[in-house]
Amino acid sequence: MSTVSRRILLAASEIFPLAKTGGLADATAALGAALAQLGQDVQFVMPAYTQALETVVDLQPAIALPVINGLEGGLVLPARMPDSGVPINLIDIPALYRDGGGLYVDANGNERQDNPERFAALAQAISHLALGETGLAAFDIVHCNDWHTGLVPLLLNNFSHHPPASIFTIHNIAFQGLCPLALMPALGVDVPGGRIDRIEFYGQASFLKAGLEFADELTTVSPRYAEEIQTPDFGFGMEGVIGARRERLTGILNGIDTTFWTPLRSPWLAASYGPGAMGGKALCKQWLQQRLGLAENPAAPLMAFIGRLTWQKMADVLLEAAPAYLAAEGDRQFALLGSGDRSIEEGFIHLAKAFPGRVSVNIGYSEPDAQQLHAGSDLLIHGSRFEPCGLTQLYAMHFGTIPIVRPVGGLADTVVDVSPETLALERATGFYFIEPTAQAMLEGIDRAVALYRQPERWSTLQATAMSQVFSWEKAAVSYLRVYDRALAGRAASRP
Ligand code: ADP
Repeated sequence: MSTVSRRILLAASEIFPLAKTGGLADATAALGAALAQLGQDVQFVMPAYTQALETVVDLQPAIALPVINGLEGGLVLPARMPDSGVPINLIDIPALYRDGGGLYVDANGNERQDNPERFAALAQAISHLALGETGLAAFDIVHCNDWHTGLVPLLLNNFSHHPPASIFTIHNIAFQGLCPLALMPALGVDVPGGRIDRIEFYGQASFLKAGLEFADELTTVSPRYAEEIQTPDFGFGMEGVIGARRERLTGILNGIDTTFWTPLRSPWLAASYGPGAMGGKALCKQWLQQRLGLAENPAAPLMAFIGRLTWQKMADVLLEAAPAYLAAEGDRQFALLGSGDRSIEEGFIHLAKAFPGRVSVNIGYSEPDAQQLHAGSDLLIHGSRFEPCGLTQLYAMHFGTIPIVRPVGGLADTVVDVSPETLALERATGFYFIEPTAQAMLEGIDRAVALYRQPERWSTLQATAMSQVFSWEKAAVSYLRVYDRALAGRAASRP
């Protein structure tokens, strides 16, 4: 691998710890930090949400942006990340990103009506920045992530005859950034060659499709998902677009940031522990049981769920399976942290009332609570109907908590199912269930609980899970190869 330094602009709508709704934020932050570690000249760009402005450090004087879609007064606010120190550019456009509410939903939890305006303006600002039109030096590579930045590769081609190389990463193909085609002129989107079909999706415009069509290279967050999204079952209608560009598509597994996600020195845990020194995990479990009002029984199997309570995460199926899981043996426990569909949230609240001392349900979002659950639990249930990569199973394994997963996408690529052979070879790291049904899920859980009751074999399984390395450095090296391919493609297309 060459040590050439490329000037890379890493663009996303959320970057941890400035803003986060899911894995996108973790992945983008960690990739930027890993690229910087590899000596790359990398900068982030994202919207200047209020929380982001409050979290960055070393804020520099503002740089004016050109008028974007009639919106005057737009600014680039250069600063640095509080943890990695990587430079970040916050895009501040009046009325678009600083009005409270969620990142994509309003205060009532409804999709924001002005999302097309917000993210079309963001894409324009990123394009100006990338091309060196704001006073900062131009970038060699613009790496866009998910639909929020999908228009960037298209706009770069509109704005310049020699644009930087563009990469588009799919973190979740189900989110497609759809809006009326008629909005495009007002959003400043002029499709090259009048080829409106290149952004059209069943009569609407799709920001995601723009990224898929116009980026020089495509990546997604696991090799298995790269295959799956070329099929109707997982492509959400984009399988044809992806299939046509499959030569340009690479699957690169996300890593995890083990400086932050670590049972060895997390500030939020009752005790620290690690491979070969697992005593602290028992203390974390006892502390968790006490805090959550669960029976304080060190031998009770404690299963956690952490994540969005949505169809994708099979939260509906988990709710259906939970009573039978609890009924099977009187000491089984369950702790949930998450939020999402209202009816599913209510179902779990009801479950907690029905099983006092055995079920804890926390409807909310909290990093400390998530780490405490990873540390104090024995099992993590992560059933997904589709899963681009999935991070919670990686965090769980690192914390010696055994995942029970449906082997789709990144779950299949990162978890090895327990069998007599994989256990004997010390390769097993978790349990699979195949069908997306409560029955199959329960069978997977039963297999896991049965092994949990054999402490010696369980310790071996935990040790194997904890020894897995999901390295961002390795991922960053793979991204550099993709960047170089995109640069080579650009150079070859020049007259
Ligand atoms: P997705 O991005 O599809 O939601 P991932 O597993 O890739 O799923 O990433 C989810 C990320 O969000 C993980 O870092 C997980 O720990 C975190 N997370 C999800 N829900 C919560 C919650 N309620 N509280 C704290 N962290 C959460």
